Amino acid sequence: MKDCLVSVSDHVFFNVVTSALEAYKLAHVTDGGSCSHVETFGHLWGYATKDVLGLATVYRLVWSDTSTAVKRSKDSVTFDDEAYQLKERFIDSFFPEVSYMGDFHSHPYSLEDDKIKTELELERKKLYQFSKPDFDSVRQLQNDGANYRVGLVATVYSRDKKVNRSTAWLDDQSCLRFQYDELTIWLKAYVWSGDAIDGFRRKTDKMVRLICPAVGAV
Ligand SMILES: [Zn+2]
Repeated sequence: MKDCLVSVSDHVFFNVVTSALEAYKLAHVTDGGSCSHVETFGHLWGYATKDVLGLATVYRLVWSDTSTAVKRSKDSVTFDDEAYQLKERFIDSFFPEVSYMGDFHSHPYSLEDDKIKTELELERKKLYQFSKPDFDSVRQLQNDGANYRVGLVATVYSRDKKVNRSTAWLDDQSCLRFQYDELTIWLKAYVWSGDAIDGFRRKTDKMVRLICPAVGAV
């Protein structure tokens, strides 16, 4: 039995992955001109509960949104909390049964831009995981009072010639790798659990397992 289960609804799977794909495939206006292969960002909404045996905490991600006011680039996404406040007010009015859980963003990689030759090279370099600035951002959000408990990162990668790889769990099942439309996609979850002390929760050292029925990972 895993200690932390992150359950991704079909809606969240659809929104997170299609947002990451749109930012990857289509040209977006950025400070550096119009380009594709940019990052995207949004918020996660849901609730935490115990499993039926009371052994594991289940973080149910019910809804997600994509923030359109962010500044995107190929290796970062910058946001402020106005979008969060706007969406939290809306959630409080229409869906008071769910609350803020955290956020997601994407990591775009390609042979063309990043000289990453294979999926294995990307995995060896841990590019599908949170970067140090990603962890710093969570700490800053918690410092600002956000009840941040779950972070998702969707990494999208393409290379010249697709090699078929089976759907797989990585990182003790906190990450799912699957293929779609000539692309390889990693979906990785982090959990900050326990009681908030001075506003901060610790990133859990317990086992985190991602549950995502849409890709058959249950
Ligand atoms: Zn990142």
